[in-house]
Amino acid sequence: MKEKNGVKGSVIQHSELFEEAKKYLVGGVNSPVRSFRSVGGDPVFVKCARGSKVLAEDGRKLIDYCMSWGAMLLGHAHPEVLPALRKAVGNGTSYGMPTRLETELAKMIAEAIPSMEQVRLTSSGTEAVMGAIRVARAFTKKNKILKFEGCYHGHADHLLVKAGSGASTLGVPDSEGVPVDFSRNTLVAPYNDLVKTGALLQEHVGDVAAIIVEPVAGNMGVVVPDTDFLKGLRKLCDEQGALLIFDEVITGFRLTYGGAQNYFDVIPDLTCLGKIIGGGMPLGAFGGGRGIMKVLAPLGPAYQAGTLSGNPVAVTAGITTLKCLARSKPYERLASVTRTLCEGIRDAAQKEGVSVQINSLESMFTVFFTEWRVTDYQTASRQDFPAFRKFFHALLQDGVYFAPSAFETNFVSVAHTKKDLQSTLQAVRAAFKKTHDR
Ligand SMILES: *Cc1c(COP(=O)(O)O)cnc(C)c1O
Repeated sequence: MKEKNGVKGSVIQHSELFEEAKKYLVGGVNSPVRSFRSVGGDPVFVKCARGSKVLAEDGRKLIDYCMSWGAMLLGHAHPEVLPALRKAVGNGTSYGMPTRLETELAKMIAEAIPSMEQVRLTSSGTEAVMGAIRVARAFTKKNKILKFEGCYHGHADHLLVKAGSGASTLGVPDSEGVPVDFSRNTLVAPYNDLVKTGALLQEHVGDVAAIIVEPVAGNMGVVVPDTDFLKGLRKLCDEQGALLIFDEVITGFRLTYGGAQNYFDVIPDLTCLGKIIGGGMPLGAFGGGRGIMKVLAPLGPAYQAGTLSGNPVAVTAGITTLKCLARSKPYERLASVTRTLCEGIRDAAQKEGVSVQINSLESMFTVFFTEWRVTDYQTASRQDFPAFRKFFHALLQDGVYFAPSAFETNFVSVAHTKKDLQSTLQAVRAAFKKTHDR
């Protein structure tokens, strides 16, 4: 990555690139949040990335806290992952036949997360969740799924539901193009609310196949589970004969090597993985106990498949990433770096008299512009969005890329250095000043 000042040639403006992209790509992007819709302005177009930084097409170097939405726990272009990928590509890129690599990755996953005795690899987190839910339904022979408001589980029809005000009613789709019929089997409860969850289960007693939850919510910004929330869900599931699904697409291999279930010591029946296990390549996985997973084809009647599932290049990135994590055990350091960063942000906000709540756990954090505690989607929605927008753009101007929405998580990676933190905090102090001046 060239990072000298004095960029060669003429400087490309992101506005030009965005205009050109919009001619051919819907909204100029391939995934909506990238478009900066909620913060305004032109998205950053990336030329290349290394470590904690991305080099933008306009020649600017940015300290990245999006890290491909958490996938790049080791940092961009990791010096062990890249050579492994080069070697893998040399062996051909897809076969549609089994490889030893797939077994190796599945074994690593099962050893890290013992509840995942049997694993199925997919090409995305969305597919992993779809598969897990199908397995839960096939295993329990029940139809309904209970999810939590503000939790995202990929873009499958029946999961694009967060429910309106009547949280105890049946789900209403969040997206056009999803028939209400498809979400009829999706129940929605407020995060961290065991009482409402229990009541909803009771209302549909005997019909609920599974409760699916982000054990630490990351898709409404970071929302940490209250003590006993996850344990309570485990208990409710056991009482009702429903399965507990942890969507660990973010938390798997991030909170700790064994994911949220080992961090909190609450063991689900099924687990979904993605992001980090792909090491920056398209890869997801779901799995659970042998007795449950055997309903999946070819052993059982629940169908699930994928042309590129278990792709050798993606699996190589996953294996190499997990090996690095297992060997280097970066978790304590990640937590301490994140703590320092969050304390610095909190101090800076206080000094400028800006009300923020910083939710963070291990290497995940969100700065909410609100004076109230954020414990669920409702409280996360009570933010000063214009203040967030100003803050976001002020940071960006000073070379710091936060996730471009007030409902997202920022991720610290192994590659973030002390110097990155100092530069970030300097930018944060300036940004709060600007947020303040209205
Ligand atoms: C990102 C994410 C997904 C979807 O994964 P994709 O790879 O984008 O399909 C599912 N669940 C959670 C919790 C996620 O953060």
